[in-house]
Amino acid sequence: MAEQPFLRATGLTKNFGNVAAVNNIEFDVSRGEVLTLLGPSGCGKTTTLRMIAGFEKPDGGEIEVEGTPVVSISKRILLAPEKREMGMVFQSYAIWPHLNVFENVAYPLRVRRIKGNVVQDKVESVLSLVGLDGLEDRPALLLSGGQQQRVALARALIYSPKILLLDEPLSNLDAKLREQMRVELKALQRRLSITVVFVTHDQVEAMTLSDRLAVMNHGQIEQLAAPHEVYTNPATSFVQEFLGRVIWMQGCVMQRESERMVVGLDGEAGVQIQCPATEFSPKSGESVVVAVRPEEVSVGKVKEGEGFNQVPCEVDTAVFLGDRYECHLRFGPMSFTLYTSVGEFFSSGQKVFVNLPENAVRVWRKNEAGQPVSH
Ligand code: ATP
Repeated sequence: MAEQPFLRATGLTKNFGNVAAVNNIEFDVSRGEVLTLLGPSGCGKTTTLRMIAGFEKPDGGEIEVEGTPVVSISKRILLAPEKREMGMVFQSYAIWPHLNVFENVAYPLRVRRIKGNVVQDKVESVLSLVGLDGLEDRPALLLSGGQQQRVALARALIYSPKILLLDEPLSNLDAKLREQMRVELKALQRRLSITVVFVTHDQVEAMTLSDRLAVMNHGQIEQLAAPHEVYTNPATSFVQEFLGRVIWMQGCVMQRESERMVVGLDGEAGVQIQCPATEFSPKSGESVVVAVRPEEVSVGKVKEGEGFNQVPCEVDTAVFLGDRYECHLRFGPMSFTLYTSVGEFFSSGQKVFVNLPENAVRVWRKNEAGQPVSH
């Protein structure tokens, strides 16, 4: 029998006035798993996390931990945050400036009236876990950004929460420290085997820290899957664009069979792209958007074979970056950027062919403005 999810949210909904901040979402998290809520600003990540923590009351839906509801709107259950056994780290860290490191970390235990010697032992062990041993007496105001982040993490971990909720905990750190803390956070999560719900708008953080990603947009989850699956097999054009770079081209369906289709690209007659058939069923003649990741394509100087999937382009500029070239290419009114290895030199004005591997091409519906639309 499959193990029941450790954390499960169903029909979770929150409106602020007429803004549907979170719109009927569903997800579950297994014990020891890291699930990341990823998406642009305002898509509902923080509101979702706050509903899990108990700081925000949903308008509808249910959240269960180990099969027991901590909130259920229909059953009128709403457990207070401190009864949910969850630790949360906020983007701002929210540590007390007038307390030293020890008292900041001890705070959740003091609130729970735990005895002094137990507090001492627990604080020492959790400070060592996050690499802050010896800093017990340091006033919080005299800590660096990275140290404050560790204090916030230690405080969230001190009462061994069932679930750790992290709201953009690395976003106030500079790039180098951020990278270091990302690695440390992953190592700590593995060591403790703790279940984590992580919120970020940073795709690198999401890809490196998560077992699965829930990509959110306008209060809804557009895709929930492992990072590799989300990147290589995006469910919507939004997901494809949000995770990584994309070359977009406009075209028109010429032929559609059950497995494959042919799209004629706008911009030059006779440039045809063969690709797997999409899940939606565009009619012959329907305008669509063709998308491919730049790292999937190759650039050649001559046309090969029958010429399918080869887009004749002109090199606008090719900039030497040391380890590779950054090539700005133009095809009709469309332009895009590619990276080529230092062995392949291309110069401005040169004609080249960009080869799109058949299985790397995705086709999306487009709206009246020519933008891809999720379906
Ligand atoms: P960010 O990455 O910028 O923090 P987010 O994805 O976490 O964004 P939320 O903070 O959950 O998004 O906000 C979702 C939507 O709900 C936004 O439109 C936001 O303006 C709105 N919202 C959030 N909290 C409130 C509130 N307390 N009152 C009114 N509107 C709110």
